[in-house]
Amino acid sequence: MSTSTEFQAGIMIRMDNVSVTYPGGITALHSLSTTFREGEFSVLLGRSGAGKSTLLRCINLLGRPSTGCIIAKDIGNLDDRAKVRAHRCRTAMIFQQHQLVGRQTALQNVLVARLGYHSALRTLLPLSRGEQLIAVESLDRVGLLHKAMERVDRLSGGEQQRVGIARALAQRPRLILADEPVASLDPVTADRVMSLLHGICNEMQITAVVSLHQVDIAKRYADRVLGLEGGKVVFDGPPAGLSERVLSLVYRSSQSRETVGTAPPDQSAKARSREPGSCEPLVRIK
Ligand code: ADP
Repeated sequence: MSTSTEFQAGIMIRMDNVSVTYPGGITALHSLSTTFREGEFSVLLGRSGAGKSTLLRCINLLGRPSTGCIIAKDIGNLDDRAKVRAHRCRTAMIFQQHQLVGRQTALQNVLVARLGYHSALRTLLPLSRGEQLIAVESLDRVGLLHKAMERVDRLSGGEQQRVGIARALAQRPRLILADEPVASLDPVTADRVMSLLHGICNEMQITAVVSLHQVDIAKRYADRVLGLEGGKVVFDGPPAGLSERVLSLVYRSSQSRETVGTAPPDQSAKARSREPGSCEPLVRIK
């Protein structure tokens, strides 16, 4: 069994042979093995239904793997409630639809992030000045201090997502998981929000795993891209490797698939870790 002491230096999360099969029989992830390095900004690309959200939810154990395990730095195999709680405490999530409470102020929404650090009983009491300061600093970091007391439903889409980022930061995370964080924004605002998120993660050395639909944004900000298709990783490398051929593998329609073959998971994971820029022929087309 893997333990934190066996954990390779510089790795934040390791996924070993993770499969997810939903009730009803759809297998959204097929025996996926990969690692996410500390401070790395990884982008997940793939068609709708490729398994990006499932992968993100798995990393946070919001969706339980059907097989395999997730191992987190300094915590180990996330196989009990205490470890999952510790992992979630330092893992922030950002969603496409923000998941903010519209009638509450930006500050109130950001303060919610601090609740995870307290017992259920303690959360009934007002948060301390220290906690409030962290929330205020987080809003300042995303350039929204002047909107702290504004109701969130009166903010623009881009501002709302910046509040979402501030809420994530107030958690003081080591890891940020963002599920299509800019999908509902216009292209200019989407780029600004991604630039902000990327800049913060880079500066604070926060590991980020971000799913995106926009290839151009992935190319601009990703350190590493994972291309998913049918619940399998078909590309793993730097954005410079996103050639037309690779993109057609990632975005091809399932109808065009004549034969699909997958390299044995262990072999593919090892090959990727040896050769970070490689686009492996994980998918064969006759
Ligand atoms: P993506 O984020 O790339 O669009 P998802 O991870 O949401 O992909 O979905 C992967 C596959 O799993 C899809 O076929 C989807 O229909 C299925 N799926 C996702 N969530 C559920 C669920 N809660 N129950 C059943 N099937 C699901």
